[in-house]
Amino acid sequence: MNKTYRFGLLGYPLQGSRSPDLHKAALQAAGLAGEYRLYPVEPGDIKRLEELLAHLRNGNLDGLSVTIPHKQAVLPLLDSLSETAHAIRAINTIYARDGRLIGENTDAPGFIMDLDKQGVSGRTCLVLGAGGAARAVVSRLKTNDWEVTVAARRTSQAEALVSEFDLSGACRLDSIPQTNFDLIVNTTPLGMIPNEQSCPWEGDFPTGAFVYDLVYKPPETLLMQRARAAGLRTCNGLGMLLEQAALAFEMWTGYPANKDAMKRALA
Ligand code: NAP
Repeated sequence: MNKTYRFGLLGYPLQGSRSPDLHKAALQAAGLAGEYRLYPVEPGDIKRLEELLAHLRNGNLDGLSVTIPHKQAVLPLLDSLSETAHAIRAINTIYARDGRLIGENTDAPGFIMDLDKQGVSGRTCLVLGAGGAARAVVSRLKTNDWEVTVAARRTSQAEALVSEFDLSGACRLDSIPQTNFDLIVNTTPLGMIPNEQSCPWEGDFPTGAFVYDLVYKPPETLLMQRARAAGLRTCNGLGMLLEQAALAFEMWTGYPANKDAMKRALA
């Protein structure tokens, strides 16, 4: 009998998540039967996290995606981490091998794969925010030879990233130096529904910078609108979302993910 795959997403809140569309499209394009469910788990509900992880361990589930606020909270509940996840200390994908739970981070390769697709080049980058997604982003920028400065509302959080990943500098989000960055990456939730009127950037933009916003709800954030009005190239986080989901799908099933079908599902 053909296998029916069971995947899901752990996080809170999960309304409006695009992950089910992406994974259902990948399953369908690969000719596989399966489902991708949303599992809203409130912050701190370790009992519910353990229950869902037990389903993964005993084979009732085949793969879990993890999003805010559990990307770091779930680490102590896993048996091992991939090299990437270990370096970043945050995961977004879990699978089981021989009853052992393994944490992976596909945000990091997903981000850099999409950045390449955008045709972005340069040397200096400013990352806004210093949370879980920022850790994934700076780790890959660093290994791709970018000089990275981190701006966060808590300088201590930005400074921690600088020392951990050997970056160029840290500053406060509200006092960013007037430097000519080639790339600006927003990893804060500012601009995301329901706070679409908020923006992590005040004032003029560096000439010629590319603005990459990890937020994708709405498809054009206030940051992107302002940057576009200043003549800069921009993109939202949908490309990264697609790439990280494709990598997770391949890990869970062993089948190639049809990215064209996944892209159509997002349209
Ligand atoms: P996180 O771990 O909670 O980190 C968020 C960061 O933003 C922290 O540095 C936080 O600072 C800062 N921040 C939050 N609210 C802020 C505010 N009002 N003003 C200034 N700074 C603020 O979250 P995350 O997992 O990194 O996710 C961040 C964003 O990236 C979310 O919008 C998420 O949807 C998006 N994301 C997109 C993708 C994709 O595939 N496109 C993948 C991952 C994440 P404090 O610690 O001081 O709160």
